[in-house]
Amino acid sequence: MNNLIYVPNPLLRQKALEIESVGKEEINLAKKMMQIMIEAPGVGLAANQIGVLKQIVTIFFIDNETKKETKYTLYNPKILSYSNETIVMEEGCLSLPEQFAEIERPKNISLQYLNEKNQIIKKNVKGVESRILQHEIDHLSGKLFVDYLSSLKRNIMIKKVKKYLREK
Ligand SMILES: [Zn+2]
Repeated sequence: MNNLIYVPNPLLRQKALEIESVGKEEINLAKKMMQIMIEAPGVGLAANQIGVLKQIVTIFFIDNETKKETKYTLYNPKILSYSNETIVMEEGCLSLPEQFAEIERPKNISLQYLNEKNQIIKKNVKGVESRILQHEIDHLSGKLFVDYLSSLKRNIMIKKVKKYLREK
């Protein structure tokens, strides 16, 4: 049984390992992640967040304007390049419930990942999708969005999460 884990769980600070090849186990894990993410509800999830140190990310969001659904799994995702242009957007994280902050990141990225057929996919992403994937890929190397804030702000947010979980 896998469940969401929260800060300051040390598994969120560890590096997820690269997958040798995508098999049944990874595909089942990704299905479970999708389910946990959608129920939460969240728009992205990294395997670290359910305590599994494998390089798997799931994403699901609906575009506000086009109403188009984007839902897929990335195995071994790697960012290949970042745009020089940056943008500030509000971020939250299922591992830090009820905490939000404005974070500046590159606007667009190009990345590669394996799909469930072990094919290497290369993709340019922008907008919300770029934002979600940068946040999730950070998780795979033990990085959290609050790491972009001052240590003072970060510690306040982590304290608030502890309080929230105690009172939940
Ligand atoms: Zn997160």
